[in-house]
Parts: sequence; structure tokens; C-alpha cells
Amino acid sequence: MVKGKDSRARKKGSNLKACRECHSLVEGDVCPMCQSSSLSEDWSGYLVIVDPLKSEIAKLMGIKRPGKFALKVR
Ligand SMILES: [Zn+2]
Repeated sequence: MVKGKDSRARKKGSNLKACRECHSLVEGDVCPMCQSSSLSEDWSGYLVIVDPLKSEIAKLMGIKRPGKFALKVR
């Protein structure tokens, strides 16, 4: 007997949503960074900010806290 893949399963790691306000990747329904509930499942690319003070990308995106952020949120 061969166990097939469950086609109903969501894509791996796709349970993350991106906040439309600050682009942070969120697992729940509310963004822990800005308390916004405006989250999108339609995002692409992500970036991990370890030290926002030393990251040029963080400055460009206005990110002031470490974390995971989506590059594009639709
Ligand atoms: Zn947010």
C-alpha cells in the first residue's frame, strides 16, 4: 500500500500571512508588530532581518524590529 500525498494539505510553510501594514510575516490573525489584522496570504519572497540598525534593506523598508518580512504583499 502506497500512501499518497494529501492533496488537501496546504503548501509547506504557507500558513504564514503577511501584514499589509508593516510586511511582517505572521502566523496568527493579528500582526504582533503593529496590531493590524490586515493580513494577506498572497505574498512573495521574504527577508529575515536580524539587526535592523545594520541592514540597508531594513532602512529602505522602514523596518525597525528584527523578524521575517515579506518582500511583496498583494
Ligand atoms: Zn504589521
